[in-house]
Amino acid sequence: MNRVFNFSAGPAALPLEVLEQAQRELLDFNGTGMSVMEQSHRGKAYETVHMRAISRVRRVMKVPDDYSVMFLQGGASMQFAQVPLNFLGAGSRAAYVVNGTWGEKALGEAKLAAASRGAEALIAATSKNSKGSYESAPPVATWSVASDVAYVHYASNETIHGIQYGIDDALPSLEARGIATICDMSSDMLWRPVNVADFSLIYAGAQKNLGPSGVTLVIAKRKFLDQGDRAIPKVLQYRTHDEAHSLYNTPPTFAIYLVDLVLGWIEKQGGLDAIERTNRAKASAIYRAIAASDGFYRCPVAASQRSLMNVVFRLPDEAAEEAFVAKAEKAGFVGLKGHRSAGGIRVSLYNAVTLEAAERLAAFMLSAV
Ligand SMILES: *Cc1c(COP(=O)(O)O)cnc(C)c1O
Repeated sequence: MNRVFNFSAGPAALPLEVLEQAQRELLDFNGTGMSVMEQSHRGKAYETVHMRAISRVRRVMKVPDDYSVMFLQGGASMQFAQVPLNFLGAGSRAAYVVNGTWGEKALGEAKLAAASRGAEALIAATSKNSKGSYESAPPVATWSVASDVAYVHYASNETIHGIQYGIDDALPSLEARGIATICDMSSDMLWRPVNVADFSLIYAGAQKNLGPSGVTLVIAKRKFLDQGDRAIPKVLQYRTHDEAHSLYNTPPTFAIYLVDLVLGWIEKQGGLDAIERTNRAKASAIYRAIAASDGFYRCPVAASQRSLMNVVFRLPDEAAEEAFVAKAEKAGFVGLKGHRSAGGIRVSLYNAVTLEAAERLAAFMLSAV
């Protein structure tokens, strides 16, 4: 077996121990004589996994009791639509922070939902630059959010551009000022502890930092869910899934099983404080290599907002970037090509990427200058 160092942006690396446990249990899960995939979602064996995954999310993230933890489908992209369908009622306005592609997509879906029901999706702040790209995120103090908006929406980590909010401090809480705050945490959920009470709703597609693709973690204040539109199809109402403990219809059972294993692995590492320490060490190794390269590697992102999850950088020209990716791949480092829309190099350092992998890549980067 020859495992590579996987820096993919998503689907992404999973902890080796988790894959090995899944492999051991694949043919005969817990003495049932079948795989988790082959169990009824209404049966005892799966139900135990499902409920344990929900309670592990609660424990690892210290989710307050009045919040619901849901496993939904359709990815973060479905959340871009489901959020406005539930909460952007006729005559209301929502405020969107746009500092990257995902913020743009969320706003686009909200505008469509708004247009069909006489509501508005406004830009609270954007950092789009003259090249039509993003190299920073607008500080919270500059967000224009009226006190009567239905909610404010932002992405905590713009995966494609490598821009992250709240690296050194928690953001000032708009939620505490009575403004429902919704955050797309697809690529940095669980990177460190967050105060869930600072949000009305947070969500993340699992395939970056939580598990495989196919399941989306949504955590939401029940009082907020109560305000959701009751006229939209039931399957799109959050309350439906909250009330049914995410068993309203067949959930992605195998994906949830793997998320549960990943959460168990996080607990074994010492929880999110320990995960954060490792994540910081990984990102510093790469940023140090960039800084030590005498300008050969250039990170375009504003210094205080350089993502610890997705480190992006450029080389002197595209030919050098292509050569770098090819040489890295030969050396066992894969998934380094930047998003097709952004170009350059992107090093994704999600929780399952080891410190050793990051340090080895940093050494490789310096040797390639
Ligand atoms: C990957 C990503 C998405 C899209 O996720 P899908 O599961 O493919 O819909 C949305 N937002 C962010 C921040 C992402 O990183």
